[in-house]
Amino acid sequence: MTAEPDDMVLPKGVRRLSAELGSDPMLVQGAGGNVSWKAGDTLWIKASGTWLADAERAEIFVPVDLAKLSRELKAGDFDAKPTVLGESQLRPSIETLLHVLMPQRIVVHLHAIDVLAYLVRTDARDLLMSKALPSVVPAFLPYRKPGAELAQEAAQAIAACPEANVLYLGNHGLVVGGGDVHQVRLLLNTVRGAWRSQVGGPGPSRDAIRPLTPDLALKWCPLAGLHDLALDEQLLGRLQSSWALYPDHVVFLGPMARVFDNETALREWTRNHPDQAPDVVFVRGMGVYGAHSMAAGKLAQLQCFRDVLVRVPRSASLRTLNDQDVRALLNWDAEHYRMQLAK
Ligand SMILES: [Zn+2]
Repeated sequence: MTAEPDDMVLPKGVRRLSAELGSDPMLVQGAGGNVSWKAGDTLWIKASGTWLADAERAEIFVPVDLAKLSRELKAGDFDAKPTVLGESQLRPSIETLLHVLMPQRIVVHLHAIDVLAYLVRTDARDLLMSKALPSVVPAFLPYRKPGAELAQEAAQAIAACPEANVLYLGNHGLVVGGGDVHQVRLLLNTVRGAWRSQVGGPGPSRDAIRPLTPDLALKWCPLAGLHDLALDEQLLGRLQSSWALYPDHVVFLGPMARVFDNETALREWTRNHPDQAPDVVFVRGMGVYGAHSMAAGKLAQLQCFRDVLVRVPRSASLRTLNDQDVRALLNWDAEHYRMQLAK
């Protein structure tokens, strides 16, 4: 029996790691995050819209031509499109170029909540780059739109620091690269451990939470902690002033938060906007409510937002995506495709 060439098989360990990372909501929310593996001239990359959590029960990876993409990137072509090898109908992740640029064999990109709580701060770079961590060679990248623009920024950062094995992506997430699965786990644990933040304070009393009257076609969000966003005035303030903190949040939950002072205000708004059915609304002092059709991916994003905000110290100032960043994310074909799959 001839052995299959190793670049045509994705090691089980990579699938195991992917499923493990994807099952941890503190690292991956819904279809977010991705993992890649380089073997010979092939890059195995997670497909767009698939969930890392499914890595062991479904085919979520797609092999693409690594040699061709590497050549194109070297020539400065950041609009290079991955060529799928074989029969796969899956579409490679929008972050494929980022994975090609990282020189390590295995690369993971995560929206790690403990780190995101720092990445959304105006002082993110100073904080994250100030701490020396064993085996970690970090680089910090300011926010760029995922895809070509982020890849271009990453190419510069890696050229300046070719040994970088951890990229902190401002207002976005984390990239970790290692020679094998074990090394990636170690690096990831080191980074997570260093930036694990305490959830501040006891949180608001949830006694006031109650369902809306049935004429409003919105259901109570099933995750108790989510209601903190409407019950805690400080969180509610952050929600209104700093909604657009990172790309997946905007893509899945829209450009702004719908906040109402009370149920009457929500009812009046609903009457005046019969064509608009927001997926999620926040009613001050009462709770968070979602459309009956709300997809699991959206709920996961909402939980992520809450988990990030409760980890940000009250005194910290936040950096949000600007209007142009938000428009660029919402008018983007690649994201429309991802949203279709999320429904
Ligand atoms: Zn991302």
